[in-house]
Amino acid sequence: MASIANALSLSVTAKLPAKNSNYDFFVRFQGHRATALRYSVISRRSIELNRSRLCVSSTNRPRSRICANAAQVMDQSVSEKSFTPPTIVEVDLGSRSYPIYIGSGLLDQPELLQRHVHGKRVLVVTNCTVAPLYLDKVVDALTRGNPNVSVDSVILPDGEKYKDMDTLMKVFDKAIESRLDRRCTFIALGGGVIGDMCGFAAASFLRGVNFIQIPTTVMAQVDSSVGGKTGINHRLGKNLIGAFYQPQSVLIDTDTLNTLPDRELASGVAEVIKYGLIRDAEFFEWQEKNMEALLARDPAVLAYAIKRSCENKAEVVSLDEKESGLRATLNLGHSFGHAIETGFGYGEWLHGEAVAAGTVMAVDMSYRLGWIDDSIVNRVNNILKRAKLPTAPPDVMTVDMFKSVMAVDKKVADGLLRLILLKGPLGNCVFTGDYDRKALDDTLRAFCKS
Ligand code: NAD
Repeated sequence: MASIANALSLSVTAKLPAKNSNYDFFVRFQGHRATALRYSVISRRSIELNRSRLCVSSTNRPRSRICANAAQVMDQSVSEKSFTPPTIVEVDLGSRSYPIYIGSGLLDQPELLQRHVHGKRVLVVTNCTVAPLYLDKVVDALTRGNPNVSVDSVILPDGEKYKDMDTLMKVFDKAIESRLDRRCTFIALGGGVIGDMCGFAAASFLRGVNFIQIPTTVMAQVDSSVGGKTGINHRLGKNLIGAFYQPQSVLIDTDTLNTLPDRELASGVAEVIKYGLIRDAEFFEWQEKNMEALLARDPAVLAYAIKRSCENKAEVVSLDEKESGLRATLNLGHSFGHAIETGFGYGEWLHGEAVAAGTVMAVDMSYRLGWIDDSIVNRVNNILKRAKLPTAPPDVMTVDMFKSVMAVDKKVADGLLRLILLKGPLGNCVFTGDYDRKALDDTLRAFCKS
């Protein structure tokens, strides 16, 4: 059997457990490694294979004899090389569920990528910084042992200021010139800017094509590649044009972070801190103990931070995919932060830097409202400083600049700006428009010179 990637059902000859129970089922291919499938027993002779719950394990367990049917199979060669299996976090969205693979050396495991490619044509969307570092590796991962797939690429200019309609059009130009059809797959290779743009292109090209995320910054690995928010900026506001569009999978090769500049790494850490503050106090405490190791790129610490962040994000997205409430809490500090990015100029401050300053402002406002005690204010300031992130907006920001950008924030409803504010013990927050306006004014005045 060449592949189980698209197999829809399996029948087994092994003794099966009781109906409706879950069971880890191990299949060994060509003697190289074991692939574990979680499945539910439907009858004593057949099992339902849930592709979205596909996970990989190197564990040696007793084998069962199997035969697959209804398999639409891509030719997948199993690498001779031994490798560490990825950690898998699942984004549970029913028929649109998908795995996030996290680990070192994943780009050297072609089958992880190939199993999520539809059709024979792939367009890799990347930028001029990331392309020289990883494009060849990704093309190799797509084509190794898989001669039927042809790969095109489009290399965009690098930077938040290019997250716009003109640059997006270059992706469509390439796709149309290359005559890609609806069976093609778009792959985002890069940070959050590339991921958001490629995702939006995939959502709208021919009204939607298959899409895979290969995030290469901490920001993208802990946040932007997961959850299907895609889009571009408008000169009047960030991410105002876009779509919810889920990828088929997210492949996080933590080795790509080896080339990431320190400032970019710290920017991503701002979002890691966010998860602790809004919903995971234990994670925040872990960060307080491990911040220096995280910034020093200790592989185990980095891997845990990515995994725990993805788990938090996946859980929130699974509960509220289209941001009717809960998902908005992931935007702690972002209304203030987006105002900084838009007001100061896209790319002047990194996204995570603006979010960090915005988080301090949201926390300050929460304290003014009497919703948190000062120990939380101090802990937030301390951890952001240790992460080498700003704790106040840049001097150029005025109260009026904040107000005018925040007036077109996506969280405005019926003219009322709703904010994410901390309330109660560490790890708790609210998304609300029900707050005293004076607290917002006081916070803006406290952080702006005019
Ligand atoms: P980015 O995409 O601009 O990447 C940062 C810089 O690092 C760029 O210069 C990039 O070329 C470079 N780079 C990327 N990978 C590298 C690597 N491995 N080695 C060396 N250099 C590398 O910025 P970002 O911080 O990744 O993402 C910010 C963007 O993400 C913003 O536009 C923000 O709005 C968006 N975002 C989206 C979501 C979402 O849910 N969709 C969530 C958070 C942030």
